Amino acid sequence: PGWKSSQPNQLPGVASAPRIPVLLPLPLAAGAYDYRIPAGLSVAPGDFVVVPLGGRELVGVAWDGEPDPDLSERKLRDIAGVMAAPPMTATLRRFVAWVAGYTLSAPGAVLRMAMSSPAGLEPPPARAGWQAAPGGPPTKLTPGRARVLAALAPGQVRAGPDLAAAAGVSPGVIRGMADAGLLVPALLPPGLAFDPPDLARPGPVLGPEQDAAAAALRAQVASRDFGVTLLTGVTGSGKTEVYLDAVAECLRQGRQALVLLPEIALSAQWLERFRKRFGVDPALWHSELGSKTRARTWRAVAEGEVQVLVGARSALFLPFPDLGLIVVDEEHETAFKQEEGVVYHARDMAVVRARLAKASIVLVSATPSLETLNNVESGRYHHLDLPERHGAAGMAVVEALDLRKFPPERGRFLSPVLVEAIKKTLARGEQAMLFLNRRGYAPLTLCRACGHRMRCPNCTAWLVEHRAQKRLQCHHCGHAEPIPPVCPECNAPGTLTPVGPGVERVVEEATALFPDARRIVMASDTIPGPAAAAAAAAAISDRQVDLIIGTQIVAKGWHFPGLTLVGVVDADLGLAGGDLRAAERTLQLLHQVAGRAGRAEAPGRVLMQTFNPDHPVMQALVSHDFEAFMSAEAAGRRPGHWPPFGRLAALVVSSEDEREADRAARDLGLAAPRAEGVEVLGPAPAPLALLRGRHRRRLLLKARKDVQVQSLIREWLARVVLPNSVRVQVDVDPVGF
Ligand code: ADP
Ligand code: ZN
Repeated sequence: PGWKSSQPNQLPGVASAPRIPVLLPLPLAAGAYDYRIPAGLSVAPGDFVVVPLGGRELVGVAWDGEPDPDLSERKLRDIAGVMAAPPMTATLRRFVAWVAGYTLSAPGAVLRMAMSSPAGLEPPPARAGWQAAPGGPPTKLTPGRARVLAALAPGQVRAGPDLAAAAGVSPGVIRGMADAGLLVPALLPPGLAFDPPDLARPGPVLGPEQDAAAAALRAQVASRDFGVTLLTGVTGSGKTEVYLDAVAECLRQGRQALVLLPEIALSAQWLERFRKRFGVDPALWHSELGSKTRARTWRAVAEGEVQVLVGARSALFLPFPDLGLIVVDEEHETAFKQEEGVVYHARDMAVVRARLAKASIVLVSATPSLETLNNVESGRYHHLDLPERHGAAGMAVVEALDLRKFPPERGRFLSPVLVEAIKKTLARGEQAMLFLNRRGYAPLTLCRACGHRMRCPNCTAWLVEHRAQKRLQCHHCGHAEPIPPVCPECNAPGTLTPVGPGVERVVEEATALFPDARRIVMASDTIPGPAAAAAAAAAISDRQVDLIIGTQIVAKGWHFPGLTLVGVVDADLGLAGGDLRAAERTLQLLHQVAGRAGRAEAPGRVLMQTFNPDHPVMQALVSHDFEAFMSAEAAGRRPGHWPPFGRLAALVVSSEDEREADRAARDLGLAAPRAEGVEVLGPAPAPLALLRGRHRRRLLLKARKDVQVQSLIREWLARVVLPNSVRVQVDVDPVGF
């Protein structure tokens, strides 16, 4: 194993035996447990240690703080060993503790995210292999030995099992040949290399505004001190090139850089640009990495071998020993919010990690969140803006297409105005895109005879027809069933009817309208992973595609020079519902989609189908006046102390038993804190009142900015005793409510 075993404890029961708290990667409310440091072992905070817990041995981290002097010696158990891994830095330990405190999570649950690759704690396996002995093979060889030598090119090193398999011999043959001196041991090259970025490579010549912004960021990075900068600019203004310049400066400083992207699986074009800029691939971190790559990457980050890493939100918990810069691209994206387990917002926590590491952080967006704008306003964040699109590309012309005036034909979803525009675009040999943020064929299936609606048995949600798979699916719990031949309610045959469009239905309509156009569908069903996304992007860039139809996948940072028309099938989609940020979120998404049009010389046009052309969101998109919209948003939220002008936390109470959920929510409501500047709303049904078979009720705690909501909630929860079958999920700064 990869850890040094301790000496047997020579002085059992001596009261002065040193002890140290150890935090385990488990969601234990108690936090760290004390352990004894046996004689002969030296343990310091940050060391990865092996300790007994119950009947098993676990790896944890020797933690900070004083051990409990009142804990009796008899209750203490010995640390079993120390792993030969780089210790967790004090900065990362403080970060883990901070996140736990802020999100009201068990510190061990946060530690688990920072130990996401247990195998990375083991020293990298010695990659021994075999090489043919110098001097050439002897003349007399058994056929098996001859095959082994034939399987080795001159100078090639192969691992024993691999070599045996290639030659079709048993491992014994390899051993025999080694004994006979026919094979000599040699080291295999490491499986995954992290080549240092080439900083001497010239980046693109920056325009004057880009240059000024880049200089400011470089100065911030060179200060080696904490600082937050918001970098704004319309899509295509060249923000990426500017922050890559800051990355280069960070590496020149000898510190590590982390770039967080909301959807790393869709970042093929981004990676290509990185390669162009630095001549190498960055290290990657996301949920789909294999366990070996994960272990190797984790370790290489800890050892400082990785200089730049690009990752999803979980990369924030990697063991960078000297982080100098964090970039959060598309900082407004909700993908940065983790909703399960430890509920945290990676953008906000990234600012904390940067502060603890004395690092710079750059938040990047064309449409920043009101939270971030408010921090700029109050002077906490710096602000740099790129006012124009880079090069010849101008802003696309955005039009709100009034569906009341230009309705689609019966049973169709594309207005004749949009159809005509697509026709003309295709006739000019340019590309068009249709966007609908809804997967599947139809969001609702209804019986024409009795009005029965097909709903999920486990969730408060309609089942969505996926015609290609001939199934109805729940988009919340994964429940799926075949489309029934008769209505399950009234037994009428063939009366079940799809209502409303999903992206598959738009594809069907577009296929009928433009049979000769080469189409690509970009939705999670058709683009299952990074490779598929990269292939799709390449096909579009190479002009093998005329018409792109997709869900929010198409809104990501793609750069398609031939794309000049974007049609938004239902611009009103995100506006419904009682979500505080519905308008802000819709604007951000639609601006991002619109930003795909006209990125090269040919001008772009965006047509948004809407029933509310006068809605402030549509007006802001048409006029490109994002600032006016956000000022109006701010004015709407400030008086009521809604975020970011006040604090909000959600408590979601859930149980498989509906009455139990109601009772628990009521009990919590009765025990709600009463304090100056604090208001508790609810209990009320949570937005998904039934989710995966659990009934959910919600209480919202709304407080003025100066209120410490964490301690209020901690005390609140301590006042109420709830049955074990009831779960309470606390969400500080909820994004969807
Ligand atoms: P944003 O991140 O603001 O959307 P990008 O950085 O992606 O903008 O830039 C848009 C396009 O313009 C990209 O294709 C990029 O390579 C190109 N570009 C940006 N700045 C420059 C520059 N200074 N010189 C050449 N091309 C540039
Ligand atoms: Zn469901």
